[in-house]
Amino acid sequence: RTVYLNGAWLSEDEAKVSVFDRGFLFADAIYEVTAVISGKLVDFAGHAARLRRSLDALGIPAPVSENQLLSLHKEIARRNALLDGLIYLQISRGAQDRDFLFPEGLHPTFVMFTQAKQVLDNPRWKSGISVQTSPEGRWANRQIKTVQLLYSSLAKVNAARDGFDDVLFVEDGFITEASSANFHMITPEGTLVTRDLSNALLHGITRGSILDLARKAGLRAEERAFIPEEAKGAAETFITSATSFVMPVVSIDGHTIGDGTPGPVSRRLLDLYIEDRLANGES
Ligand code: PLP
Repeated sequence: RTVYLNGAWLSEDEAKVSVFDRGFLFADAIYEVTAVISGKLVDFAGHAARLRRSLDALGIPAPVSENQLLSLHKEIARRNALLDGLIYLQISRGAQDRDFLFPEGLHPTFVMFTQAKQVLDNPRWKSGISVQTSPEGRWANRQIKTVQLLYSSLAKVNAARDGFDDVLFVEDGFITEASSANFHMITPEGTLVTRDLSNALLHGITRGSILDLARKAGLRAEERAFIPEEAKGAAETFITSATSFVMPVVSIDGHTIGDGTPGPVSRRLLDLYIEDRLANGES
């Protein structure tokens, strides 16, 4: 693969980041993941806007403008002949001798790479996935998309050991989100319910897009916190993320949701999303 590092296009073996990089030593870095389907960038504007919010929240200067960012996304897809998959980007505060305090004016480290993946043809959309509830243990500023993913990674490994596909974090009795996706339910009355935005969860770009599409399609949608017991009684549950789009969740802690197969509303939202993004994505 050809990767991007601070203005240079390099083969993946050539690209090197300093051992003193604050992303490496302190997880002082933010990231974004944007899907590519049939050569089109999915929800690029949303990801670029959130990237800016994450950088501002940590006081890391933006290394490029939004226009340059779009060009870089197109260029890295072109250089890697990426038709379907994802583009990962990470920006750290930069490198300095190890110190909790950092000076002004560090030069950010900006990395991008691609992963080819059949994102348009996910077999799990047909089977759905299982989740296990797990105590929320991440830091309190989950609206910032930082690379502090250790807790989420370990929680997902534990869930996998117990035979589940993912975890559902629960804090003060309420669901926050899955390890790397937002969680939603369709109530028995047919209302889409998703947790309202706060520092408790990442403001998922796919979450926002699905809410818009659902409302346009005439679905009632509510943003509020809810507990696992309410989700277990839902007609359908699903998660959303940039690479899984709308992924049905068919069991929670071994409790079957609906009839245990992906529901019609989740499927409809997935179809609407793909159709809309294929028609409107940047290419
Ligand atoms: N929540 C968390 C913790 C995530 O890591 C992600 C994506 O990686 C999401 C939600 C979904 O966000 P998006 O739809 O922007 O990919």
